[in-house]
Amino acid sequence: MTLSETKEVVITMEKNDIGWNLENSYAELPGLFYTPIELGTVSAPKLVILNRLLAKDLGLDAEALRGPAGINILAGQALPANAKPIAQAYAGHQFGYFTMLGDGRAMLIGEQITPAGERFDIQLKGSGRTPYSRSGDGKAALGPMLREYIISEAMHYLGIPTSRSLAVVMTGDPVYREKTLKGAILTRVAASHIRVGTFEYAAQWGTTADVKTLADYTINRHFPWLQSEQNIYLGLLDEVIKAQAALIAKWQLVGFIHGVMNTDNVSISGETIDYGPCAFMNHYDPETVFSSIDLQGRYAYRNQPNIGLWNLARLAETLIPLVDENQQQALKLVEDSLRKFPSLYQADWLQGMRLKLGIANEGTEDEKLIAELLGLMKQYQADYTNTFVDLTLERTRDKTQSSELYESDAFKDWHDRWKARLERAGQTDQDIRKLMKQSNPVVIPRNHQVEKALLAANEQDDFKPLQQLLAVLQSPYNYNSLNQEYMTPPESSNSPYKTYCGT
Ligand code: AMP
Ligand code: MG
Repeated sequence: MTLSETKEVVITMEKNDIGWNLENSYAELPGLFYTPIELGTVSAPKLVILNRLLAKDLGLDAEALRGPAGINILAGQALPANAKPIAQAYAGHQFGYFTMLGDGRAMLIGEQITPAGERFDIQLKGSGRTPYSRSGDGKAALGPMLREYIISEAMHYLGIPTSRSLAVVMTGDPVYREKTLKGAILTRVAASHIRVGTFEYAAQWGTTADVKTLADYTINRHFPWLQSEQNIYLGLLDEVIKAQAALIAKWQLVGFIHGVMNTDNVSISGETIDYGPCAFMNHYDPETVFSSIDLQGRYAYRNQPNIGLWNLARLAETLIPLVDENQQQALKLVEDSLRKFPSLYQADWLQGMRLKLGIANEGTEDEKLIAELLGLMKQYQADYTNTFVDLTLERTRDKTQSSELYESDAFKDWHDRWKARLERAGQTDQDIRKLMKQSNPVVIPRNHQVEKALLAANEQDDFKPLQQLLAVLQSPYNYNSLNQEYMTPPESSNSPYKTYCGT
């Protein structure tokens, strides 16, 4: 692309009839933290999917976004008023090893201030090379971008903090991987894209003053209430620890496996970000791992809480100089904070599990009761989601739902003890049912359904299966119309399925 092409595109700034209301607070940070980006061009932008409900919440007019002016913005070849495209700098521990990274295929065009006064990053993923692209082409393919759209929206409707997806646009340009693929750009919306890796970057290549600038910015943006605290930087660490404990507990409760919990993929705001080789578990097996490159199982389901803590320790290290002038004292303080993570996580998880079993109060025997159920589910390779649905609907004694698990004596014994536990809680059947229905999703984005939708989109330009899947995933707790098609696990679940990142 020549410079004159760039200029031509930039001056076609669109009238602001779409509802853009952008600010650029991140771009006011020292230059160390980002690089300004020039726009590129795409051959034939075509809108594949637009999230109308999200557009509305953002204060954007979905109809106007669908028009040529809107699509040019979503394709990264025109800018709304007040946009200031940048690529963010960050580093990260990838599978345990420290590396310089940064937005290698994304640009932040600004922060949309919504009608409700909230601030959200608007980021285009797949928009072309940046100074952080290393050997990459800066591009993204249609399949992975649609995959992120589906899973992130599913997570949102499951009630799990996550980045959102506003739109996917096909660029009309090829993307060369093992095969030639269709290029696409995803518009991602997030509370921010400040990562553990952003702090690591500042600590590694900046000064303590730079880390402080980033910490102050982060506190102001995400945890403003800390400003009145005595040790605001220790407070920042505590807030991130709390948010990650809560987030990972939620992942575990729905059987979500992120796949690449590198520190650059851990958001300080506590949202799930960077959907790569992630997937939902079918049959319950704590060793489940989906990422094709995670040969050691570092990011397996059962490891996610431990890795969460490991990642938080990397954040803590960057904050040590800010926490106390006395390094020994600072070390002690951050270690005390990190030590709280396991119990915070466990409390969140246990409470979530109780609700999944309809238990409204706390009992000392609950942990054992839950562990026994999970042990049986593992032994009989029972589907994680559907076992809880069957318990919710009292179908485990229903002949039509019969399974090896439900027919086993061990399960029948467990079931009796569960019922006795519920009896002791003294709730009505109605209350129990209500709790369980709110806590046990009927549908999750199962890999084989996601793949089916992606295949139709990719190979036949048929976006109906995608729309259908997204519609179902919008009400995961709706027990009124059970949709068997989307509830059924694949023939052989979990292990043969592999997803790929960075594609
Ligand atoms: P991810 O696996 O998506 O978390 O990406 C890890 C790093 O690789 C980030 O710095 C990305 O921006 C970068 N990256 C991934 N794919 C590409 C690509 N096609 N071109 C340039 N950079 C990329
Ligand atoms: Mg990433």
